[in-house]
Amino acid sequence: MSQKIRIAVQKSGRLQEQSVKLLKECGISFGNGSSKLKAEADNFPAEILFLRDDDIPEYIEDNVADIGIIGENVFLEKQKESELVLRLGFAKCRLSIAVPKSEEYQSSNWLNGKKIATSYPVIVENYLSKNNIAAEIHEISGSVEIAPGIGLADAVCDIVSTGSTLLTNGLKEVDTVMKSEAILIASKSLNPEKSALLNELVFRVNAVNAAKSNKYLLLNAPNDSIEAITQVLPGMKSPTVMPLKEKGWSSLHSVVNENDFWSQISQLKELGAQGILVIPIEKMIV
Ligand code: ATP
Ligand code: MG
Repeated sequence: MSQKIRIAVQKSGRLQEQSVKLLKECGISFGNGSSKLKAEADNFPAEILFLRDDDIPEYIEDNVADIGIIGENVFLEKQKESELVLRLGFAKCRLSIAVPKSEEYQSSNWLNGKKIATSYPVIVENYLSKNNIAAEIHEISGSVEIAPGIGLADAVCDIVSTGSTLLTNGLKEVDTVMKSEAILIASKSLNPEKSALLNELVFRVNAVNAAKSNKYLLLNAPNDSIEAITQVLPGMKSPTVMPLKEKGWSSLHSVVNENDFWSQISQLKELGAQGILVIPIEKMIV
């Protein structure tokens, strides 16, 4: 019987929706698991396991799951036997040190002799020893940001994305311990069949993510500006140029990176481009 790769995703929480969406965009279809522990994919040899994100590294080490999607912060904290395969670009956040707003914090030396509340004791321990700081770590599993206010700690190390939670709790962010995003991790002991399935999945994720960061661009241009426009639009190769019925004009097709997009559009307009269309790309194999 051919093998199925067991993919662990978060059962509920901030990673859940986008993890499931990514797998579906990779063409893996399965029933939603809000009430189930696992689901069989019907068009890919995979079984999706819905678990608490914090438990996923352990399940992979114990060979209950083969691969999984978790935050890089949890991967570093758990120190389990597994490897980082791919950064996925969502659930971006940082793990930061925050102190009460009124404190005059100049450098990490401020933390010497202080008490730090966190859900990430291993990561904080590494941070402290790297910076030669002797501080006490107080591990709590949730609502870390209230610890200074209730006198439980002098500082916190917690997940920050916008900083608004810190602000409403009278704290200020003073140092970034690590940056994090969702990652794909895998067991270090996959058999060849499962390794091949992982490679196939990685190939698909790359195609999906490349498509997301690029747009398909169509425009009409006077023939004498095609050369200049080609310089602005490197595309995957050089742009496709097709003659229009209207004499002296052509249609150009290219792929542009999302990030360069707006600056290129204004340059293109200056060069005489008209009828510019920007179209999302569904999959992109590079
Ligand atoms: P619980 O175990 O109670 O479900 P959790 O903190 O483990 O809580 P989530 O809050 O769902 O789980 O967070 C899962 C992951 O999402 C975190 O480990 C982190 O990588 C990322 N994350 C958390 N908060 C944010 C945020 N505000 N913005 C972006 N990513 C975040
Ligand atoms: Mg969790």
